[in-house]
Amino acid sequence: MRGIPRRPLKDRLMEKLVVVQREYETPCWKFIGARSSKGYGCIGRGGQGNLVVAHRASWELFVGPIPDGLFVLHHCNRPPCCNPQHLYLGTNQDNMDFMVACGRASRDRFRGAKLTELEVGEIRFLTTEGQLTLQEIADEYGIGTSVVSNIKLGNTWIGVEPIEPAPPAPFTDEPIARRV
Ligand SMILES: [Zn+2]
Repeated sequence: MRGIPRRPLKDRLMEKLVVVQREYETPCWKFIGARSSKGYGCIGRGGQGNLVVAHRASWELFVGPIPDGLFVLHHCNRPPCCNPQHLYLGTNQDNMDFMVACGRASRDRFRGAKLTELEVGEIRFLTTEGQLTLQEIADEYGIGTSVVSNIKLGNTWIGVEPIEPAPPAPFTDEPIARRV
């Protein structure tokens, strides 16, 4: 990075997001860069090894500082989503695990193992269901169409059964309206 001005975090975050329409009035902004084992996006804040959680970065960029002791949680229950309208502050300690998870993502990011077995199952389901094109599926998961094609044809990930992608979990506090 010597001598190269680093582009603003907001620009780098936005270009790693794809819009995925779910059943809410605003779409999920799915992070397609390096992800932790739990599916949280990880993005460099500047400086070597300084990865931060993408949806926390999104909150800070679009909403404001995160008070000490609070976590940024998902209404849409989709860990890679960075749409600030789908995020809220809470105290859920379960979310502690993403703090350490990004360190692991930084080690794994060049190994090419971008997909989890669950995601492969979902891709296999979507390719057989036929509602989305290979390109649309590739965009949703942040991978190339050849990867989708190989999963569809059974050339890779042999034995992973199709899994219907889960809808977002219901939530009680509702700043985002469901689509009708
Ligand atoms: Zn979302």
